[in-house]
Amino acid sequence: MQYANSLLELIGNTPLLKLSTSLAPELKVEKYGEPTGPLLLAKVEYMNPGGSVKDRIATRMIEAAEASGELQPGGTIVEPTSGNTGVGLAMVAQEKGYKCVFVCPDKVSEDKRNVLRAYGAEVVVCPTAVAPEHPDSYYNVSDRLASQPGAWKPNQYSNPNNPRSHYETTGPEIWAQTEGKITHFVAGCGTGGTISGIGRYLKEQNPDVQVIGADPAGSVYSGGDGRPYLVEGVGEDFWPETYDRTIADRIIEVSDADSFAFTRRLAKEEALLVGGSAGMAAFAAKQLAAELAAEGRDDAVIVVLLPDSGRGYLTKIFNDQWMGQYGFATETTADLELTVGD
Ligand code: PMP
Repeated sequence: MQYANSLLELIGNTPLLKLSTSLAPELKVEKYGEPTGPLLLAKVEYMNPGGSVKDRIATRMIEAAEASGELQPGGTIVEPTSGNTGVGLAMVAQEKGYKCVFVCPDKVSEDKRNVLRAYGAEVVVCPTAVAPEHPDSYYNVSDRLASQPGAWKPNQYSNPNNPRSHYETTGPEIWAQTEGKITHFVAGCGTGGTISGIGRYLKEQNPDVQVIGADPAGSVYSGGDGRPYLVEGVGEDFWPETYDRTIADRIIEVSDADSFAFTRRLAKEEALLVGGSAGMAAFAAKQLAAELAAEGRDDAVIVVLLPDSGRGYLTKIFNDQWMGQYGFATETTADLELTVGD
């Protein structure tokens, strides 16, 4: 019989999937058969048991805190999170008998908050439209909660076990799965843990591997001033300690409109129901693939990391009304306009 004794054993070892249809007609990649141009592979992180890449950092951060004594039996985990880190932490905490309190900005979808509550966690919602130093900011509220006795704050923005989990698991997986043939790695940056950990590992194996960050327009990584954007989980208005500035060779800025349109294309054309940050990273990777194809770099092997599933965004990116409210194009809206025009 083949079975896992704990859900935690099912974290990681996610598959790589070749992207094809969503690249047509730009790159004319066939779904089956050998690619004639750059190969674009997606690391599908929603296959983790908590549904996102963040299961990896949750396990590593909790186990390190147990080892150091910062987290004691029966303790409470307190973290400001946009949802996925919360799910990972809630899942690992439940396996190990800890309580969880999560602090979320109000732009995080109700769907995501309800997932955290379903795991038995408490959720505190804070306003997005205040500066990080404001007492009601989600950073400060979580600091206050974390100062209670028995509480421990993983702090994914400064915890070295966040990038380390990717250095030790995701990076080696990608290297082994591509048999060392990877030439470019693309990922969105939130805490920067993903890109810093994976990027460092890959560059240690082969210094020629190019690491490319994808970033929402307005975020600091692409030179912005923190201007708001709607894509969730990526982009920052400050430089987190978990982001290693020496790793990324290039940052590609992506607008919300392009991120969301491509997220919808991935669902419709590749049957990949993923979140907006995945659509953003995949859009940047597609742009990179087109550039490399134009340069004749047909041997390029690009891996793009897709952090989570689209299930958490059904009332947003996959909802035509929500898209229309922000002025984003949807196929249905275009159809309606045509009918009206007729
Ligand atoms: N996408 C989503 C949906 C996320 O929740 C996160 C984490 N904030 C990221 C991407 C970015 O990952 P990282 O924090 O490792 O940069």
